[in-house]
Amino acid sequence: MSGRVLLTGGAGFIGSSVLDALVLQGRRVTVVDDFNDYYDPRTKHENVEAAVASGLAQVVHADIRSPQTWAELDADEGWDGVIHLAARAGVRPSIRDPALYTSVNVEGTARALDWACSGSSPIPFVLASSSSVYGDEYPVPFGEDAAALSPVSPYGATKQSCEALARTWRRMRGIRAVALRFFTVYGPRQRPDLAIHKFARRIDAGEPIPVYGDGSSARDYTHIDDIVGGVLAALAAVQQDRLDHFAYNLGSDRAIRLDELIAAIEEAVGKAAVIDRQPEQLGDVKRTWADVSRAGRDLGYAPSVTFEDGLRDFVSWLRR
Ligand code: NAD
Repeated sequence: MSGRVLLTGGAGFIGSSVLDALVLQGRRVTVVDDFNDYYDPRTKHENVEAAVASGLAQVVHADIRSPQTWAELDADEGWDGVIHLAARAGVRPSIRDPALYTSVNVEGTARALDWACSGSSPIPFVLASSSSVYGDEYPVPFGEDAAALSPVSPYGATKQSCEALARTWRRMRGIRAVALRFFTVYGPRQRPDLAIHKFARRIDAGEPIPVYGDGSSARDYTHIDDIVGGVLAALAAVQQDRLDHFAYNLGSDRAIRLDELIAAIEEAVGKAAVIDRQPEQLGDVKRTWADVSRAGRDLGYAPSVTFEDGLRDFVSWLRR
């Protein structure tokens, strides 16, 4: 592969981890990110420092919703692919501001797809989707063929819409596109609003942690290294046009209950948690659990980081 990769959201948690992996492979990357203040933008600037210093990455500080952003990028410059990760992420904030989530995630994705099809031939496209598209109605583990997706949050609905747009552009313009449904991702650089990061930080500081519900809700926690491996495998597969399907789960194939999670963090941090029990939250699903057999078959995806190892790795990163 000789061209560039366009990576939206490349300054964020998952994006900057994908960026570092691409740079490690010696690939040239253009990041588009607006460095918004959903969490401290300084963190995002730090996330891209090493890649920029390597000389292989360039960063375009811009909003994916703006037509100007795309007008300044030449779709005929010999791109290897688009990895589209830029989005407003997070379930609960999407309930407070659904219009913002819709505008960034849905309009932003439509513009990215449109741009990818604006050159002489469509650029292969990898879309970040989410386990949130499944909702609460399916038996676990979730399989990609679940007939009618039924998200229970505006965030999940925007991700379902992004998938619908990418499928439409596939039919309409023949773009090779794949949607990756990430299941709760954790590891170094994890977003500070996500449970593992928030809990570990507060337990370490002796502060109470808000725990929603009775502790029986469960999540499939996926280590960032496995997600990065899955994204790169999907990029290669979509470039080579060898995928039989459009949607793939990237999870760990193991569901961990909230009370188990807290006990594991207590052990990794070496301190007891102070629990601030709260009612269940609107928009939260009862459980997630990925069936990853399709990703295994088509992408060679095999999650390799155990939750125990991944948590130890995360806590040592947090302390550094
Ligand atoms: P993140 O917030 O760390 O990264 C998103 C990046 O997108 C940020 O750097 C942000 O500045 C950028 N961005 C947001 N709006 C933008 C805009 N209008 N224009 C340009 N850039 C913009 O989040 P993350 O956890 O790294 O998530 C990355 C992707 O993976 C998202 O699409 C998210 O929905 C998806 N996802 C994440 C998880 C998870 O557990 N972290 C799970 C499922 C899906």
